[in-house]
Amino acid sequence: MLSRRVLSASPRCRHLFSRPNDTNYYLTVDKPPAAGLFSGHDLGSPRRLLLSPGDMGAGERITGWLSGDTYLCCTQVEGTSDSINALVVQRGYCTNSNVKVPHDIENNLLKNMPPHVTIVEVGPRDGLQNEKTIVPTSVKVELIKMLISSGLPVVEATSFVSPKWVPQLADAKDVMEAIRSISGVRLPVLTPNLKGFEAAVAAGAKEVAVFAAASESFSKSNINCSIEDSLTRYREVANESKKLSIPFRGYVSCVVGCPIEGAVPPSKVAYVAKELYEMGCYEISLGDTIGVGTPGTVVPMLQSVLKVVPIDKLAVHFHDTYGQALANILASLQMGIRTIDSSVSGLGGCPYAKGASGNVATEDVVYMLNGLGVKTNVDLGKLMHAGDFICKHLGRPLGSKTATALSKIKGPTCKL
Ligand SMILES: [Zn+2]
Repeated sequence: MLSRRVLSASPRCRHLFSRPNDTNYYLTVDKPPAAGLFSGHDLGSPRRLLLSPGDMGAGERITGWLSGDTYLCCTQVEGTSDSINALVVQRGYCTNSNVKVPHDIENNLLKNMPPHVTIVEVGPRDGLQNEKTIVPTSVKVELIKMLISSGLPVVEATSFVSPKWVPQLADAKDVMEAIRSISGVRLPVLTPNLKGFEAAVAAGAKEVAVFAAASESFSKSNINCSIEDSLTRYREVANESKKLSIPFRGYVSCVVGCPIEGAVPPSKVAYVAKELYEMGCYEISLGDTIGVGTPGTVVPMLQSVLKVVPIDKLAVHFHDTYGQALANILASLQMGIRTIDSSVSGLGGCPYAKGASGNVATEDVVYMLNGLGVKTNVDLGKLMHAGDFICKHLGRPLGSKTATALSKIKGPTCKL
């Protein structure tokens, strides 16, 4: 139990003390105040305290002011100039009435938290595409099914890129074949061009995604063409997908920094995001591909994009290279973002960005959102099971701090 203490009080409250095994507080005053009506507040709720004559005097006990963890601040005394005019005491800490503690501080920090956030799980595609050892199709399919059963509403399943580029996902058609009949969940696939789009649709894909970069150099090294050329290519995909009423999502990579060019101007990100939006992407996912962003760079970037794309059409995609992903997600939520990409057990990296570690772990995002009271529909236990499954297969430790912690502890802490 925390101890009660007074950090400060007004000059007339010099002598406040407590006694062992006594929950009351005692105050010695130099001058006994006249009876008065005290105005105070208790955790922000206005309340008035009436003290009868004789309740308070020099050397007298003052009881009933504080009980349990009551926070009390006498801010005003009516009818006397000699009486106590300020005192705040609380278990563990206190302040006086001269220190302004904004009652809405919690509100200010958390008021933009939405009741619900959509998590887009990118582990089976963005995560596994960077694994050197080929993961068998059956393991991928099992992973996708486990992720779906955890309640994730969107699971990016695979990518219809050339097997020459990404050998790990050469089995895209087989993966789709195994999951195409699953309903009640969205299973988008990455399609770099019209050829990929057609193959994806033929394999049963009902939703696709295209992948652009905000950095010219990264675009050339990652998808082998300039930003403009990639946008031209995606307009073809957009036209076809509109004809077939297939929703398509747009990614923008390197939204904060590029491994080749360094800092990426927010205006460049806004330009690419706007182009994707205008060609019909139902959602634009803004990716800090190398994980260099902090809220200090992410917020201006989002502000820039928000001028040209509505907030409900935006998602964020953070990598945790510098341990900034959750901070960036929190800042994004506070700005009104409602869709977050993440990867089970933090799978993923970037083959073209040396040192870039994985995506933010879905388990860690869910844990934070649970703590914020934001609903995700995801069962953390089942999600951890999926993370454990794929990490065991890959022969590596869990990539989520939440999963690592929860797998080690028992007792009340694991229910927090
Ligand atoms: Zn990623």
